[in-house]
Amino acid sequence: MTKFIPWALLTLAFSGCARVDSQQWYKGNTHTHTLWSDGDDFPEMAADWYKRHGYHFLVLSDHNIMSQGEKFKNVAKHVKKNDIIAKHEARWGTGVLEKEIDGEKIRVKLKTLEQVRSMVDEPGRFIMIEGLEITSSLRGKENPQQVLPVHSNPVNVDELLKPEPRASVDELLDHHAELISGYMARADHPVFWHINHPNFKYAITAEQVARVLAAQGLEIFNASGGCNNQGNEEFPGAERIWDIVNTIRLKEYGVPPLFGCATDDTHRYHTPENHYHSGAVLHDAPGLAWVMVRAASLTPDAITQAMRRGDFYASTGVALKDLQYDAKAGVLSLEIDSQPGVTYTIQFIGSPRDISLDHKTPDPVVDDKGGSHPVSSTYSDVRLGAVLKEVHGTKAAYQLTGDELYVRAVVSCDDENMAIIGEGAIQKQAWTQPVGWEKQIKESR
Ligand SMILES: [Zn+2]
Ligand SMILES: [Zn+2]
Repeated sequence: MTKFIPWALLTLAFSGCARVDSQQWYKGNTHTHTLWSDGDDFPEMAADWYKRHGYHFLVLSDHNIMSQGEKFKNVAKHVKKNDIIAKHEARWGTGVLEKEIDGEKIRVKLKTLEQVRSMVDEPGRFIMIEGLEITSSLRGKENPQQVLPVHSNPVNVDELLKPEPRASVDELLDHHAELISGYMARADHPVFWHINHPNFKYAITAEQVARVLAAQGLEIFNASGGCNNQGNEEFPGAERIWDIVNTIRLKEYGVPPLFGCATDDTHRYHTPENHYHSGAVLHDAPGLAWVMVRAASLTPDAITQAMRRGDFYASTGVALKDLQYDAKAGVLSLEIDSQPGVTYTIQFIGSPRDISLDHKTPDPVVDDKGGSHPVSSTYSDVRLGAVLKEVHGTKAAYQLTGDELYVRAVVSCDDENMAIIGEGAIQKQAWTQPVGWEKQIKESR
């Protein structure tokens, strides 16, 4: 087993970005809940949904719990609402679930990840990767309405990393980082760690995310309820937060950018398939946002290592046929796996190396319950996360000048066959990871 590679070495691997022919794209979701916490179906049913829908890997990320050991769960309300035992028996046969009926209670023994793996893992086709959602909240002492959630997902961990309370969002983020760093120091395998939904209850600002130096990823799209991906007049959207974070990390701290992740954060599995594109609002449903990872093989370590290198893109419906970064030539290029009748726009976005980080920090916004939410700063330099080039078509390339802190690409399209979530229709997009940042890191040391 290889020890995990620190980012300093990874920058070398990443800058080469050489593609070996055996590498393939694997589709996965790194954020999923089941009955182990507040999801509404069994872990093997969640895994089966993703496998049947063409995914290659799935991370179960229940709140502060691993899918390990013995746990009986009273599923009576889910049986009543969604008939989950009959659905399970229809899929896996009778006698697979261990049940105890006790008056109104229907207690079922949950399958461990090892058991789920034996039911769904298939070499080269589908794997489970172990994980959890480290879940904490800052609660106001004087104002109980004040709740700021700080959640993050380590991917490929096999131990419960249980958070304790802290006195501020910054301290909670640092505490998650300590838990992860401690685990990485004793683990013999790679871990990818992403900070989740910064705009969920408008809890975390871009500046707070930026200073978590140990993080490797950030959710730039989370399809579950209340994540406010688009932001509003007062708060920037998650994609803008991502650009602010990466500009600060590179310019001020001299550390690698965070890689953007799109996830389902699935909690509910019983949405009928014909609701997906019917105009109905989907709540915490599977199959809306994912990552495509380029790896040499389909194993937890290979997928995780590829994510650490940034060899993946995030998607809500646009697929890429090809994505290359030639570090030597300084060219980022991509080709879309286009759909008939759909037109595409490719934007290359970045910040320059001589950017000014002059900013103003707005006052916190107080919500109607009296809860206070910090707001990301506004930056006077309009070149922060600006569009550097725009192409209408299915193929594009960007020649870096060497004056960029980083460059990334985002693909949008006019496909109106969109799924709808609480905050509106999910635009079909793909986001590639920032490239071209190694120079800044080398020179800032
Ligand atoms: Zn969460
Ligand atoms: Zn979650």
